[in-house]
Amino acid sequence: QAPYDVLALRQDFPILDRKVHGKPLVYLDNAATSQTPRQVIDVFSDYYSRCNANIHRGLHTLADEATAAFEGTRHKVRAFLNAEDARQIIFTRGTTEAINLVAQTWGRTHLGAGDEVLISLLEHHSNIVPWQLLAAERGFTIKVIPVDDSGALDMQAYRELLNERTRLVAVNHVSNALGTINPVKEMAALAHQQGALILVDGAQATPHQAVDVQAIDADFYAFSGHKVYGPTGVGVLYGKKALLEAMPPWQGGGEMIKTVSFDAGTTFAGIPHKFEAGTPAIAEVIALGRALEWLEEVGVGAIGQWEHVLLEHATHAVSSIDGLRILGTAPDKAGVLSFVVDGAHSQDIGLLIDQLGVAIRTGHHCAQPLLHHFGVDATCRASFAAYNTLDEVDTFVDALNRVIGMVR
Ligand code: PMP
Repeated sequence: QAPYDVLALRQDFPILDRKVHGKPLVYLDNAATSQTPRQVIDVFSDYYSRCNANIHRGLHTLADEATAAFEGTRHKVRAFLNAEDARQIIFTRGTTEAINLVAQTWGRTHLGAGDEVLISLLEHHSNIVPWQLLAAERGFTIKVIPVDDSGALDMQAYRELLNERTRLVAVNHVSNALGTINPVKEMAALAHQQGALILVDGAQATPHQAVDVQAIDADFYAFSGHKVYGPTGVGVLYGKKALLEAMPPWQGGGEMIKTVSFDAGTTFAGIPHKFEAGTPAIAEVIALGRALEWLEEVGVGAIGQWEHVLLEHATHAVSSIDGLRILGTAPDKAGVLSFVVDGAHSQDIGLLIDQLGVAIRTGHHCAQPLLHHFGVDATCRASFAAYNTLDEVDTFVDALNRVIGMVR
């Protein structure tokens, strides 16, 4: 039994009515991007039909309205993450850009030879590569927290890896490849005991559970609009105020300055504008605000609960398939089902199941080190969202059985 009316909720999503190869679309690639409700899509036509203007600088009505709507989202995000102050919310292009911002500002000024950054084996490439790029320049060391066979972080190893050289722990809240939910609150407390900061990549957590950055005591927290039923091209970096205030700017340009002079040099705006150079994705930010409202109307906790039902149902159904191995069996898991099948390439399964209207993801899920650890190059991944139904899970499992029969 769903905690809300799933069929009614589906009416919000025009794309769910479309057919793929003549079959009704069963969209199970939600960890890559979630679909967008009409309420969010409508923001774009409303914005461009009524109040398209550049923000912050204008004194005219359109600019005022656009600025108010844009800044309105900042307040909604503050509430969404339970940050203390809206100025701690910085708009970025997404999680990737948020992490790069921290690496290039805080990281560049605080990390050097002899320092250690701890990341986990579960990380998305976007929480690996920015640190590798910086480490090559600054000479610090990256250490990796291992996982156990279930795909849960090895907390004992984490405790042992933490030491007085650790400056930063950068981990995801939920793994996109396996669905593992990491104990980030406990990890933050342990990091802080060692005087290290913690950056949490919340790209996969924010769509599925309420997040409280103060309760976690995260120093930085990042997420992407397009995974919380919002648009692409926008994301968020939250940071503790003292850290953000002390960090140098990253990109230079308009909006992020106080004064610019050839003689006296440039002074910078305060947070958050110091980190928001240039014209931002105005419509996208406003639409993100609407997406967060939509998410709260449904209830992110209820969504997570329903996805769990879908996950259990799917896990149970596929476990009888001969030669199918699920990767990621940690007890604390979000709605992600990653698997490989003996004698069937993931790529072939993905292509053939698409012919039956079912969209899943196949590949390395931008987590190559993790997949290599499990001895595979690719998995198939079905991931669930608010609008998925038990019938869709059944359609997926039937289709999977057919496809496996074809390729074996
Ligand atoms: N981290 C995780 C855990 C993700 O799942 C993703 C997106 N797949 C990202 C980071 C990167 O997000 P984006 O591409 O929106 O910047």
